[in-house]
Amino acid sequence: MEHAGNRDPVCGMMVESTTRFKSLFRGRVYYFCSESCKRKFDSNPEKYLSGNIEPMQ
Ligand SMILES: [Zn+2]
Repeated sequence: MEHAGNRDPVCGMMVESTTRFKSLFRGRVYYFCSESCKRKFDSNPEKYLSGNIEPMQ
């Protein structure tokens, strides 16, 4: 198990697993730095899991 940190798949930031912004997708938990990253992921998870990181505007 990796406890060092989790990468926000939307913006690429490292986030703590204690964050309240997280989503379960295909049996895996993904962590986010903010509500807006979580919303983006939830609206199109496959886009962010394909490796396309969108820089923060
Ligand atoms: Zn983020």
